[in-house]
Amino acid sequence: MNFPFDEKENVAVFTCCHIINGGVEIQYASHDEDDGAWQFLCDLVTHETSEASIVSLKEIFELDNSVGELASMPLGSYATRVDKNSPWEEFKQ
Ligand SMILES: [Zn+2]
Repeated sequence: MNFPFDEKENVAVFTCCHIINGGVEIQYASHDEDDGAWQFLCDLVTHETSEASIVSLKEIFELDNSVGELASMPLGSYATRVDKNSPWEEFKQ
């Protein structure tokens, strides 16, 4: 599958240990207005600093190809979904 993002494959993105180590689904994604950083998190409302992980955008895409649906999501937006089989819903931050 082609890499759909404009960013480089090795750009660092923020995620959490639940997704990387726990096999939990990605249910939240944001594309930050200030620095263009991507975050991909599970459905927990709060995350401790110790639960944060930094991986490459390519790693997240390979973990779950459906994040590629967000490739054109503009800066200053975030998206949520009920589960992996549900569509992403995008919102302005
Ligand atoms: Zn998490």
